[in-house]
Amino acid sequence: MILCLSREQKSEQKLEVPRTTSMQWAAIFHKHDVRITEGIDHLNFYNSELDKHERILPCKVSCALCGTLIADEGRNMWLAFPSLFNFGGVSKVPTKFKPTCHIFYGMRVIDINDDLPKWSGHKNHSELLGNCGLPGRGYN
Ligand SMILES: [Zn+2]
Repeated sequence: MILCLSREQKSEQKLEVPRTTSMQWAAIFHKHDVRITEGIDHLNFYNSELDKHERILPCKVSCALCGTLIADEGRNMWLAFPSLFNFGGVSKVPTKFKPTCHIFYGMRVIDINDDLPKWSGHKNHSELLGNCGLPGRGYN
């Protein structure tokens, strides 16, 4: 599948800790910036709430050939996983795709010692935590 991300992406990068995996590198795009230019017939859609393999939003988008999860498609947003992007090497990951914060850090499995802001839940709608999970920003 070829995904074409147009415009100056208003993407937001984050390391999040969803229920299913310990850590996920995710990038959010507005859907009008996302074009699928090839291989759309190799996509699977799944709505977990209704347990239906249909494109009922919000849904999960995966590769029909190998089952790899490609994105979470919402009504307006496309949450993609940059670990699937071909940047041409780790050192070539554009700055815009570097993680900018951690979300759901309150549910983390391990402490992460970096300088990024760590939100206990959703960005801007939860408490900022230090690396050890205590309130406040920094290495507390
Ligand atoms: Zn595949």
